[in-house]
Amino acid sequence: MDDALLTPVVDDDGAPFWEYAARGELRVQACAAPECGKLRFPPRPCCPHCRSFESEWRATSGRGRIWSYVLPHPPLLPAYAAQAPYNAVVVELADAPAIRLVGNVVSGPGAPLDSVDPGRLRIGAPVRAVFCPDASGTTLVRWLLER
Ligand SMILES: [Zn+2]
Repeated sequence: MDDALLTPVVDDDGAPFWEYAARGELRVQACAAPECGKLRFPPRPCCPHCRSFESEWRATSGRGRIWSYVLPHPPLLPAYAAQAPYNAVVVELADAPAIRLVGNVVSGPGAPLDSVDPGRLRIGAPVRAVFCPDASGTTLVRWLLER
């Protein structure tokens, strides 16, 4: 595994996120207290707004925009060096601008990390989620440029 891309550590709080991703759904944890209902990310047991322990997983459109991005430079782990230059993006969800997810923009579900010319990336560019099974069996959420 030394030459493999890193895989997510799935914990109890975040497990539903990965289960929905495996079904091609981008869902975000939300407070289930009727007077609150706020979305939160990353997943955690307690609502930071009202302290309720009730939660649900709310579907999103899977659309967003690039809030920020970087092009990592050496030294890189060997598997990442093999796919450089690649991008790491922070995506702000269209349905919930306070929710931001870290990922990569790729050209398709099975495409390598370097499949998009870094010159095409812009802050504010619209993107949509794409679901990418990895070698460990986890389905990663990555992003496609909308244009
Ligand atoms: Zn709440």
